[in-house]
Order: sequence, then structure tokens, then C-alpha cells
Amino acid sequence: MRRRKQINCAYCSKEKLSKNVIGLNKKLIQPHIERMMCLVCMAGYFETTEDELKDMIERFKREGCALFG
Ligand SMILES: [Zn+2]
Repeated sequence: MRRRKQINCAYCSKEKLSKNVIGLNKKLIQPHIERMMCLVCMAGYFETTEDELKDMIERFKREGCALFG
């Protein structure tokens, strides 16, 4: 069995990004993104807050987006 690749933030030392954070990277930036960001770095990048990003994740989940679970 192939081990699932651990994805770390490309911009700080945060490790093991969660499925929802990875989904948000794909959704907001691009589907085939290689350098993933954690929520903190994403908040800085989009000039928003971690809480807003978490709300966004909840919204996408409610819409049934397959990238989130
Ligand atoms: Zn980061």
C-alpha cells in the first residue's frame, strides 16, 4: 500500500496540512498547486483572517464540495 504523502506548508514550518486546508489551497489558488500554504500563511496571502478561512471551509463543505470532508 502506498503511503499518503504528508503535505507541509511551503512558506513556514507547519507540517501535515489537513484535508480541508489542502482543499482550500486547491479551491482558492489552483487545483494543481504544488506549494501548499497553511491557514496562517493563506490568511496573510489573502489579507484575511484564519477565522474567515475556516468559515469558507465550512461553506464549501455545506455545498458538498468533494475537496472538503
Ligand atoms: Zn504556513
